[in-house]
Amino acid sequence: MTPPAPLVLATHNAHKVTELRRILGSRLDGIELLAYDGPEPVEDGSTFEENALIKARAASAHTGLAAIADDSGISAAALGGAPGIHSARYAGTRDDTDNLRLLLHNLAGEIDRRAEFVCAAALVVPGGREHVRLGVWPGSVRTEPAGVGGFGYDPVFQPAGFDVSAAELTPDAKNAVSHRSLAFGALMPLVRAELLGKNS
Ligand code: IMP
Repeated sequence: MTPPAPLVLATHNAHKVTELRRILGSRLDGIELLAYDGPEPVEDGSTFEENALIKARAASAHTGLAAIADDSGISAAALGGAPGIHSARYAGTRDDTDNLRLLLHNLAGEIDRRAEFVCAAALVVPGGREHVRLGVWPGSVRTEPAGVGGFGYDPVFQPAGFDVSAAELTPDAKNAVSHRSLAFGALMPLVRAELLGKNS
């Protein structure tokens, strides 16, 4: 039997690992997803795509294996797209509650609540081949947090077409439509083609 093809998941965020394993499901057949505990690179790109590639490149270079990474965040229209690529450190602390409180504060009294979650998913293969795909989940920022599921800004994000926050959705309901699911859904055929030589 052919051993599974190793694929490093270049993230230290435990929430993302759990969510991604669930999103990828059977698309990981024949692939062994490995945790990454090597050095984290400086994310000095100016787009989600650049930062996802920076993380995947660093993990691939460190391990000598193929690596996937994502870079994600929330962009509010009334804030000119902020916090965007700065979502994780918006409040300066890397704390989810501080971050979402600052977002609510900066949108206080604002009528235009439009926002989107964005995720870039990147694959880097030894030898230098690179792929990146973007997923966008449109919605709005609520005036109050609601729900205890998910992570990060989920309690203040209301996806378009829903009357609850992303933190009130079940994991499967979120994963059916989320930015991360869209980005990795588009990337996985490329991962399978690169690692297994298949287009499935
Ligand atoms: P990254 O780890 O650099 O990609 O940072 C992502 C930031 O965006 C973190 O603050 C996350 O909490 C937030 N974020 C990304 N995806 C989601 C999501 O699905 N729900 C809630 N917050 C998210």
